[in-house]
Formats: sequence, C-alpha cells, structure tokens
Amino acid sequence: EAPREDSAALLARREAHFAGPQKHYYEIPPQIERGWREFLFDMEGRAYLDMVNNVTMLGHAHPRLTAAVEQQWSRLNTNSRFHYAAVTEFSERLAALAPDGLDSVFLVNSGSEANDLAIRLAWAHTGKKNMLCLLEAYHGWTLASDAVSTSIADNPQALTTRPDWVHPVVSPNTYRGPFLGPDSGADYVASVTTVLEAIDEKGDGLAGFIAEPVYGNAGGIALPDGYLTDVYAAVRGRGGLCIADEVQVGYGRLGHHFWGFEQQGVVPDIITIAKGMGNGHPLGAVITRREIAESLEKEGYFFSSAGGSPVSSVVGLTVLDIIRDEGLQENARVVGDHLKAGLAALMERFPLIGAVHGTGLYLGVEFVRNRETLTPATEETADICDRLLDLGVIMQPTGDHLNVLKIKPPLCLSAESADFFVKALEKALEDTV
Ligand code: PMP
Repeated sequence: EAPREDSAALLARREAHFAGPQKHYYEIPPQIERGWREFLFDMEGRAYLDMVNNVTMLGHAHPRLTAAVEQQWSRLNTNSRFHYAAVTEFSERLAALAPDGLDSVFLVNSGSEANDLAIRLAWAHTGKKNMLCLLEAYHGWTLASDAVSTSIADNPQALTTRPDWVHPVVSPNTYRGPFLGPDSGADYVASVTTVLEAIDEKGDGLAGFIAEPVYGNAGGIALPDGYLTDVYAAVRGRGGLCIADEVQVGYGRLGHHFWGFEQQGVVPDIITIAKGMGNGHPLGAVITRREIAESLEKEGYFFSSAGGSPVSSVVGLTVLDIIRDEGLQENARVVGDHLKAGLAALMERFPLIGAVHGTGLYLGVEFVRNRETLTPATEETADICDRLLDLGVIMQPTGDHLNVLKIKPPLCLSAESADFFVKALEKALEDTV
C-alpha cells in the first residue's frame, strides 16, 4: 500500500494549482476529510467543534439527505426546461414560506447568483440603475453582487472601486457606528435620506436597496428599531424595490424568526437565499412578486442549467423536511439563547469582550481593547482563534476590523457543544489576554 501523503505536501500541491486568491483558514490548517453533525475530523482522527459552517445547516454528512440525493442521482438529473415534480414542489414550498404576494421563485446555484439576479430584476422592473447598499456589506462575487459589496475585510479596495450606480450608506452598526444604541434608527435613516436626496438631484432615478435585514456581515447585529420600515418607505416612495439578502441569516437560523426581515416587521419585494437551503449543495433562490419576476422577460427568458434541477430540488425539499422534522429552528432558538447567556457571562469576566451580538445561532462576539473607545482587538482575536483551534474549535476572525467571532454553527448544535465552546473560549481568553 502506498504511504499516505503528508498533509503539508498536499497543501503545497494545492498552492501550486488552486489559484492564489482562494485562501484557506489557518497558517497550518488541519486536513479535514470527514464531518458528522457539528463536528469535523482531521486525518489524525482529531475532532473539532465546527462553529463557523453556516452552509451546513443540518450538520455534516446528514444520512437522510445523503440517501435522498443518492436516490435522485440514480433516477434522473436534468434541467428545469423539462417537466418533473420536484421543481414544482420545491417552488411551492418556498413560495409558501415567503410572505403573501411573494409567489414567484427563481432557482439558481449560489447566493452571489441570487443577489445578481435580484439586482437585475430591480433594474428590469424599474428601468433604473442606481442601487443603495450598506457599508460593511458582502453580497457575493459576481459582477452585480460584488458591486454592492463594500466590506473591506473581503476586499481592501472596496470603497474606492465601486461603480457609479452603487450608493453605499452608513452601516447601521449600533455598536460602533456614528449613532449608538437601538434607538438610533432615526439618525441612520436621516443619513440614508441624504444619499437618496443626492440621487434625486442627479435625476436618473432609483432601482432599489439591498441589505441583510439582520446585519450578519457586521457580526449578527440587529438593525436599529424601525430602520427598515423607514428606509423601505423612502426607497419605495422613489419607485425602488427592496431586496432582503437572507443568504446568511434567514431560513430558521435566527431561531426566534424564520426570516431576518421579521425582526424588523417589514416585507421585502425580493428575498434572496442560498447557503443553508442546500446544506452545502450549490443552491440559491430568488423569491419575489409575479409582476417583478415577469419584468425580466423584457430581457429575454431566464435559464440556469443546474438551477432547480431534479437533484437540486430534491436537496432543497429534503433540507426543508429535515429542518421541520428535527425542529432545527426551535433548536437554534433554545441552544442559541443558552449559548448567548453563556457568552454574556464570559463578558462579565473579560473586558476584552465588548459585546455579544445576534440572535439564535447567528451570534457575534466582538473584542475591543477598551469598552469606551471600542479600539478593535484585532491581534487578540487572531490569537484567540489560533488557541481555539488547539482546543478543538473551528472559529475565525471576521468583520471589517477582524475583531468579531461570528458564531454560526450547524443548527443541530447541542447544548453540550455550546457549553464546550464557552469553556474553550474562556480558556483561550485566559491564555491569550
Ligand atoms: N450574501 C451574503 C450575506 C453572504 O454572506 C454570502 C456568502 N458569504 C453571499 C451573499 C454569497 O453567497 P455565495 O458564496 O453562495 O455566492
């Protein structure tokens, strides 16, 4: 038998041909070849608690999903120009999950594609091009979804390279933005109005507004009260459409709500989803009103070779069945609340923890050197993540200052695993600060 290749040699081979801009986690990453529920296993058989994999919503290697995919692959996989039950059933299920009136579904393969299509729908429907987006945002890598992505953690040049139809507004970050606290909504809305008035003055109209309705990219921060109500009204008053990017925060992860926009009490014109809806299988969707969907026909028909294929539709249906049958949204609420309480208790002991943001199993622990000045504890966050790896936990620094731990594990996370994470973080904090 040939000896197994050394992990470092494999990494060197990866770097030879897997193009450079596609980064990997950790300087010396463990070689992961297996997963189970909220755990990953390296080649030495070491287990890690996976606290970052929001895509693998059901947990790794789910047997029911595996069986459904295997059966569908062995029967049929083709494209949605053919007539088969799964694409109809999956579209019906998604439309039923959306608010009344959002009854038309496009099936694509990723969050980037979903957001790209949503922006194209806003363009086609309004005949305008200007889009409002938030600072600190990430919406994808395709041309239009990248254009509205302003996060400097994902692209250090983001703020100087946006096309002229993109109009970023102040990030409604109630922890470290210009206006603080949950009652700061009116001030943030006023800053949006200023940008909208500048667009009005140019006179070429508004296509729409795209935002995560719970600010996942900023660390799971709730938007200030009333923010989306007022911004949606101001955008709609100018004929624009409102897009809710639910790629990270939607689909039950918040526990208390299935959709992020429910937290703000608004209904968007277009919802985009991806990530968890396929549990890692490339799946994305746009859900909108019929008249908005139909406006795309001005540009021709829409077709995605694998979007809504029998296999993709069966994956989507099975993921929804498993979320329902295993009570995963409920688990996100119960275990998420328990985990947040554990993190809040750590915050009492460690001044480095400036805030614990988030809801359900989308939480953000933000590290600061000083709770008054909010100086981001960037190096400390990197050290804590390295120490967490030693302790058997996968976690990464995120956010524009790389000082936030975004906690977004599989929704099957047990209370024991949540406690293990809090203990490991406590140890990492004791060891590194
Ligand atoms: N929107 C948000 C909020 C995201 O977090 C991401 C991915 N990080 C995307 C869109 C893009 O999704 P994908 O990677 O599936 O293209």
